[in-house]
Amino acid sequence: MISSLDTLWNKITTEIQADGSSKNKASSKIFLSSITPAAIEGDHLVMEAANDFCRDLAEKRYADVITRILSGEKPALKYRLVTKTGRPAAGKPQQPTIPAIRTDDEPLKSAKTVPARYDGMFNSKYSFDSFVVGKSNQFAYAVCQAVAKNPGSLHNPVFIYSGVGLGKTHLIQAIGQELLKNNPKAKIAYLSSEVFTNEFIDSLKDKKAEAFRSKYRKIDLLLIDDVQFFAGKEQTQEEFFHTFNELFQQKKQIVLTSDSAPSKIQRGGESLEERLASRFGMGVVVDIQPPDLEMRAAIFKKFASQSMVEVSDEIIMYMAQNVVSHIRDLEGAFNSVLAFAGIMRKPVSKDMVDQVLKDVLRENAGGKISIPWIQKRVAEFYDISESELTGKRRSQNLVLPRQVAMRLCQIFTDASLNQIGDKFGGRDHTTVMHACDKVNRKLKQEKAFAEEFERVRRFVDPDKQ
Ligand code: ADP
Ligand code: MG
Repeated sequence: MISSLDTLWNKITTEIQADGSSKNKASSKIFLSSITPAAIEGDHLVMEAANDFCRDLAEKRYADVITRILSGEKPALKYRLVTKTGRPAAGKPQQPTIPAIRTDDEPLKSAKTVPARYDGMFNSKYSFDSFVVGKSNQFAYAVCQAVAKNPGSLHNPVFIYSGVGLGKTHLIQAIGQELLKNNPKAKIAYLSSEVFTNEFIDSLKDKKAEAFRSKYRKIDLLLIDDVQFFAGKEQTQEEFFHTFNELFQQKKQIVLTSDSAPSKIQRGGESLEERLASRFGMGVVVDIQPPDLEMRAAIFKKFASQSMVEVSDEIIMYMAQNVVSHIRDLEGAFNSVLAFAGIMRKPVSKDMVDQVLKDVLRENAGGKISIPWIQKRVAEFYDISESELTGKRRSQNLVLPRQVAMRLCQIFTDASLNQIGDKFGGRDHTTVMHACDKVNRKLKQEKAFAEEFERVRRFVDPDKQ
């Protein structure tokens, strides 16, 4: 039975709101206030958008979620998104599931495009052209371009690592697409380490290990995203080790991405086998740092040039100064502001930016970084929650981040030890003093910690390099 209009709309809004990152919170609020469910007509859910702008934006950002939910209905539904004036926007067909490698040789439609047999494997937005280059990523960009031009000969393997949302997937996909434009016959596999693992396990279950093995040992370019998920999976690592060696010996290009350097890969307390980590590190290892002010401005400028709304340089600079985050968030923040401007039918102003981006601005009243900001960033860096950071639990994975955060509050703000203690769950000033001393001692004694501290510091304030 088809759900009622209300139930259906409930499912859609719940799903959209469940995406909890702050940029999405801002834009989903805007989405939900600008779209209303109108009717179920035959096999279509009809939704009305406040205006063309909101309709286009909803189509761009939420088509996938809506399609997914509607296709789960029995019988499956489609949707129509109309503006209050009634002009429809075409619903996007659902993406088919795509195997990781295509080997059939299709005729080429035209040179310099990615062959159709790779449709759906890559996101066409992720090209070298659309990648903004700055100090923090120029080395990674140059290496990836070189590899796309001369695979297998210069740098092998290439290992790119960074925190989330800084362009690893974008770059690794750009390599694949660029190579295909120049050499449409190239056999490329692009997949995440999780997909590799799952396929491997399935091949064992189905007794097709041999077919799996030969599939990945016959390609020209192997692109594996997020290899940190290999950690702790011994059998898969063993299999991948042999795949790696085979391709490497044949001088086939391998490109890997991860959230940390090869020797530092860790997932849930498990690391990568030593021999695999050392293979991963034997070519070129490059990291991507968070964007500095200049680059954030360049990225906002690029978004602005691609948008339909006029955004002044002053606003671009204002946003670049205040939205200090990874690039995925910059994009979300920018889109939220534009959506708001579209709905309000007003030019983008600083007040509007403040209003829409309350959650992601670096609350730096008076030019100082605030304690909540430091806590937010340190928690993000160590992948713990802010309440764990400021809470009472004393487990080892919380204590060090807590001490680091306290020391950074001492460095970045004018707050007294008492005031800092207050913001960390009402701790005493002697606790803060002890934490800062501890960090200072550790900085002198342990080089690895000093490097880590420096990375956290830059994560908190990327503009003071
Ligand atoms: P990662 O894989 O490192 O988590 P992604 O490659 O998925 O990050 O990047 C997140 C988003 O930011 C993507 O939409 C990507 O296109 C965009 N992005 C990242 N770096 C850049 C850049 N230098 N120029 C333009 N867009 C970028
Ligand atoms: Mg990625």
